[in-house]
Amino acid sequence: MDQRRSDMREIAGLCGECARALIRPTRKGTTYLRCGLAATDPRFPRYPRLPVIACNGFTPLLAENSP
Ligand code: SF4
Repeated sequence: MDQRRSDMREIAGLCGECARALIRPTRKGTTYLRCGLAATDPRFPRYPRLPVIACNGFTPLLAENSP
């Protein structure tokens, strides 16, 4: 897991551990999180209000050390 994802886990709730989350740094040194499902499903906000504590689209990241 990269550092951005690891940092995001702390503040983003479910989004921080979701395979649908797109985490991108900005030129100004901040990081934003966008929901990848929003592009195809209007039920999901492009920029969810964090932390997300419940979400029907939540897709767990694969276990870090899975074979
Ligand atoms: S599907 Fe839900 S948990 Fe996953 S990134 Fe989008 S809003 Fe966050």
